[in-house]
Parts: sequence; structure tokens; C-alpha cells
Amino acid sequence: MVLDNLGQSLKNALKKIAGLGFVDKRAIEELVKEIQKALIQSDVHVALVLQLTQNIKKRAFDEKVPSGLTQKEYLIKIVYEELVAFLGKEKRELTIEGKPGKILLVGLFGSGKTTTAAKLASYYKTRGKKVALLALDVHRLAAVDQLEQLGKKIDVPVFSDRTLKNPVQIYRKFISQLEKYDLVLIDTAGRDALSLDLITEIENLNKEIKPQERLLVISGDIGQAAQKQAEQFHKSIQVTGVIVTKMDGTAKGGGALVACAVSGAPIVFLGVGETIRDLESFSPTGFVGRLLGMGDLEQLLEKAETIDKEKAEDLGKKLLKGDFNLLDLYEQMNYLRNMGPLNKLMEMIPGMGSLPIPKDMLEGQEDKIKKWKFILQSMTKKELENPEIITGSRVERIAKGSGTSVHEVRELLKQYNQMKKMMKMMKGKDPSSFLKKFKGKLPF
Ligand code: GDP
Ligand code: MG
Repeated sequence: MVLDNLGQSLKNALKKIAGLGFVDKRAIEELVKEIQKALIQSDVHVALVLQLTQNIKKRAFDEKVPSGLTQKEYLIKIVYEELVAFLGKEKRELTIEGKPGKILLVGLFGSGKTTTAAKLASYYKTRGKKVALLALDVHRLAAVDQLEQLGKKIDVPVFSDRTLKNPVQIYRKFISQLEKYDLVLIDTAGRDALSLDLITEIENLNKEIKPQERLLVISGDIGQAAQKQAEQFHKSIQVTGVIVTKMDGTAKGGGALVACAVSGAPIVFLGVGETIRDLESFSPTGFVGRLLGMGDLEQLLEKAETIDKEKAEDLGKKLLKGDFNLLDLYEQMNYLRNMGPLNKLMEMIPGMGSLPIPKDMLEGQEDKIKKWKFILQSMTKKELENPEIITGSRVERIAKGSGTSVHEVRELLKQYNQMKKMMKMMKGKDPSSFLKKFKGKLPF
């Protein structure tokens, strides 16, 4: 795992919190200090560290702990979420379209462009793409040899011409041959710094090749210095993504990642070693999850956010069909209780948020659900399946049997009817969009 030290320090800090009986202001301050220390040791820029820890503190002090979570758990969740936001939040998938899709790799000398071109070629080849490599580093002939060797290793053709000195001409020469491929990875020349010379060369290539992706390759071992580099490249040639290499064996990788994330171009892959397979697709959630040692954290986040997928789907299907009897209501109530407030669930259903849901159906539901359970338990199976038959004397019998009043039984029936009506209104809504909402995570 890359960034072992950073991960270990963060884990220790969170473990301390988890071990506390009670989280007070001092504990939060302490946690924040340890996070600061860990990040600074990983070469994250101090100003950025302060920004992050201020966000954590503000949320920890101001936000109300959601039901179903302890204060400790919520604090850990905040740390996780803020770290994820720090690294860019959303995962960005590369666009590979057209015949061929084209990815231009740019960066300084030694940042890992040539190696990464081959890694990406192998990555997409194993994912079923027909891939080619194009050698446009005309400044170092050894780069062409290097790419050819790598291409041979992964059995991917390398297009090159050692006689031409202009990379645009080399590209033109192979245009029609490259049309046979799904994806071409284009290795370019670097410089010691982002010089005008390099910018011009990349701009010319960009104009000619029109790649879907311009990926900046940056070495992670330069730590926070990556920010300036990423910003400069981004400003000059609008990179569409960053690949941070050499994340293995550098203590400064954290600084490089954060630096790239704030530069405005999303990180898309990490290079984590010298061999072809040492490439990791990057997602902020996945990365932070591993950094903090998912396992435990995952369970916590799951507890906070996920619901039983199958059950949610069943409910979704029933709601959609509009056939929903008291037996279902009873079943659903049992697990709705574990899911969080009913109004949250309702908000997830398209069109439901704007429906006139009876207020008292949502308020004080905990107590009511308890009573409803008794009422439902006092009904016969026939009554549960066909609530329409419950009239007069049946209502009285059920009230007696459940230790509730006739009024309460009627109220349950009334609310059930209202709910059923709402479900009917939803009939015909696109089930996939509806079910999709349930499949993933719910925000409580
Ligand atoms: P280029 O000048 O940008 O094309 O850089 P190269 O691809 O030639 O890489 C420069 C050196 O860095 C080579 O020795 C690579 O093996 C090494 N390298 C590239 N990526 C990684 C990585 O992710 N981890 C490690 N440890 N070394 C890497
Ligand atoms: Mg190279």
C-alpha cells in the first residue's frame, strides 16, 4: 500500500477517538492536531492542511449527529468525507471514443511518461481494447528504444520513425494505420522544466492530434512542489487528468496528491512501481478508504449509509406495482425502523417529495410504529391481505386484542389507504430510475 506512514498515522489518530468513551471538544482538537501532523509529514502544504482541518473542526462542532450514529462514528465519518473532498471527491473515468481514441501523455523529463504509456496500454488491452503506442519523443532516441521494448513485452505495436525530427510529421505518417485501433497512447518528449519550447511542442501536437485526453504525468516524489507544476501545465495546455507516478517508496506522496487535486485537474491513475502492472486507477473514496484501513471503516460507513439492497428492491417493486397490503406494511415497518426516518425514504422516491404526505404519518413515527405493530399482530392473515374487509366489529376486536383504541386502528387503516393511494400515483414511473435510488447508498 502506498503512503504507509500517512495511513498508519491517520489510523492511529482515529483509533484513539474510537477508544474514547466520550468525545469532547478537547478530543476533537487532539484529533485535528494529529491529522495535521500526519499530513505535514507527508509534505502536504501547510495552508492546505489548515484548510482541511478547519473544515473538519467546523463540521464536528456545528453539525448534529444523525440518528443511528454515535458521535464518535460521525466524527470519523467527517474525517473520511473531508479527506475524500480534499482529493477531488468524484472519480473521473477517461474518455476513450473515436477510431482511434487518443491519449496524449505530457510531463517533464523522468516523470514516468514512457513507462506510464506502456502501463496504460496494458491496462486497456486487458480490458478488451485494441491498443497501439506512438513514440513521439524526438529529443531522446533512447525513449523510442525504451517504448519499443515495453511494447514488445506487452505485445502492443509501437509506431515510431527515428528519421523524422518533427513529432507532428511522425503522427501524420501513421494516421491511417492508427485508425485500426481503439486506443492510441502517445508518448511525448519532456524537458527539465515547463519551457516555452515544450509548451509550443505540446500545443502543436494537441492541435494536430486532437486527443480526447491530455494527461499530465507527475512524479509523486516531488511532494507539494507538484502543485506549481500541475498548475503551470494546466494553465498552458488544459490537462484533462493527472497521473501521479512513483507513489511507491516516497513519503511525500500525500503532498503530491493533494497538490494535484487542488490544481484543478483530477487525478486519474497512480503509478506505484516500475513494472507494467504497477498502475492503479484512482478514486478519492477508494483511496481514502484504503488509507484509513477500510475494513472497520467500511462497516461504519455502511452502517451509516447503506440499506439492505434486496429488501429495498422488493419494496420498490411492490410500491411500483401499487399492490401493497397491510402484510407488506408490517414487513416494511420492521426494516424501515432500521433504515432511518420514513420521510428520508420518501424523499428518495421521485415525485414523492412534492406529494402531500400526511404530516402525522411522518411525525412521532417511532411510538406509532410500535403501536401499529401490535395492531397488525392482532389482525388475521385474511385481514392483512385484504384490509378492505376490516369494518365495524372487526375494528373493535382488533383494538381490544392489541390494547389500543378503535380510533387508533381506524387511523392506521386511514394512513394505509393514503399510502396506497400515493403508491398508485407512482405507478408507471420509470422503475429503473426509481430502483436505482434504492440500490446505492441512502444519505442517512
Ligand atoms: P519519462 O522521461 O517521463 O518518459 O520517464 P520514464 O518513463 O522513462 O521513467 C523514468 C524512471 O522512473 C524510470 O526508471 C522508470 O522505471 C521510473 N518509474 C516510472 N514510473 C514509476 C513508478 O510508478 N514507480 C517507480 N518506482 N518508478 C517509476
Ligand atoms: Mg520518456
